[in-house]
Amino acid sequence: GNSLANGQGLANVIAIIKDQYKKYKQIGIVVSARGEATVELQHLIDTAKSGLDYTPALTTFKKYQIEPLQTIDFTEEFQLLSDTLKGVQLTKDYSPKIQDLILAQGELLSSKILSALLNQEGLKSKTIDSREFLKTDSNFGNANVDQQASASHTKTVFKSVGKTTLTIIPGFIASNEKDETTTLGRNGSNYTASLLANYLDASEILNYTHVNGIYTANPEIVANAKVIRQINYTEASELASFGASILHTKTIVPLIDKKIPFRILNTFKPEEEGTLISDEKTQSAIKSISIQDDVDLLNISGKGLLGKSGIDARIFSVLGRDGISAGIISQGSSERGVSFIIKKVDADKALVALKNEFKHEITVNDIHSIKLIRNIAVVTIVGQKVNDFSNSLNYLKKNKIDIHLINSTVSANNIGLVVDKDDVKKAVNIIHSQIFGAVKTM
Ligand code: ASP
Ligand code: MG
Repeated sequence: GNSLANGQGLANVIAIIKDQYKKYKQIGIVVSARGEATVELQHLIDTAKSGLDYTPALTTFKKYQIEPLQTIDFTEEFQLLSDTLKGVQLTKDYSPKIQDLILAQGELLSSKILSALLNQEGLKSKTIDSREFLKTDSNFGNANVDQQASASHTKTVFKSVGKTTLTIIPGFIASNEKDETTTLGRNGSNYTASLLANYLDASEILNYTHVNGIYTANPEIVANAKVIRQINYTEASELASFGASILHTKTIVPLIDKKIPFRILNTFKPEEEGTLISDEKTQSAIKSISIQDDVDLLNISGKGLLGKSGIDARIFSVLGRDGISAGIISQGSSERGVSFIIKKVDADKALVALKNEFKHEITVNDIHSIKLIRNIAVVTIVGQKVNDFSNSLNYLKKNKIDIHLINSTVSANNIGLVVDKDDVKKAVNIIHSQIFGAVKTM
């Protein structure tokens, strides 16, 4: 998204495409929505739902979108936005299906304008709408790809375009069996790219973004964070699922069986080496610290939980039924409480569902509280063995950082810590200097 922002981003992208096309002759470009388009579209639909006037924001949005090429014809997309938003405003509500249709316009606008700009530069390109070949279920907002159908449609569609045609493909969007628009989840464009790479046997994916690669920690938080040069598929998957927002959690999977290398590069600093994700074994275990702050901690406690069987099963089946997934699940050995984290967007729903399920236990005081702790963040240290983590824990304690929960997995070397949101920067810096060496400067 940032790479395609108005100004330098877009200019660099066009230069990069020219270069790569000259070099490889057979390339497909998967694009994300430009700038903050997805967030802005989400904001527009929420404003419309609340019944407020969304039109000034819509005007600003449209102005931004046409800025690089005033002559472009966006009538169809803009009309769809106006009509749909009006409907949302009237009914003061929207379905996930409508939400996907609105959000999808970001990528549709983006692919259309990029294609037009390239044509203007004398580089003939063809836009192919991903909804024609990526098929998903109807889980709007986070749709699951039907691999078989998608693979076969993709092969057919791309065969008819010819190998040397420069193709522009909107990322993030797909369609269900009724041809309704679906989306693959936030940051889903790179997932689109890796699916295509798999179906079309691509030799490589170059993922251009606005940072130098995957870091040992967020460089905005940790001053001496370093770019990780090379990382394997398993490690990258771990990082993706623990909040490295550069990658969609599902991006790595399609790369594995065909061993397709995935390189993260910086649009704004083409000289940077970036991060290579590949099948190659890395010499030393990769360590990286990530933060998730879009989660809440849910805590259930009560003496009645002691020794009672079936409670845990009920907790997780209630959540499962509502499609809510829990992480960092933890339980004291005395079984007086169960805690876990859930996505913020699911928190209220989970609370209501659990209170409802355990109505009886609450009445007889077997459960005395089910509550959400909202101001928390999860710090995950990927590639960290539990045994080697005690120093960090000591330092966290010395710095009076409360740890609500700690969890580690047997299969992968990851440690998850739940801390107060206000402490998270400090915590990450402490852990980073423990693992990678302290900075000498203050
Ligand atoms: N535009 C979508 C988003 O912002 C997909 C992407 O950027 O990859 O989440
Ligand atoms: Mg984006």
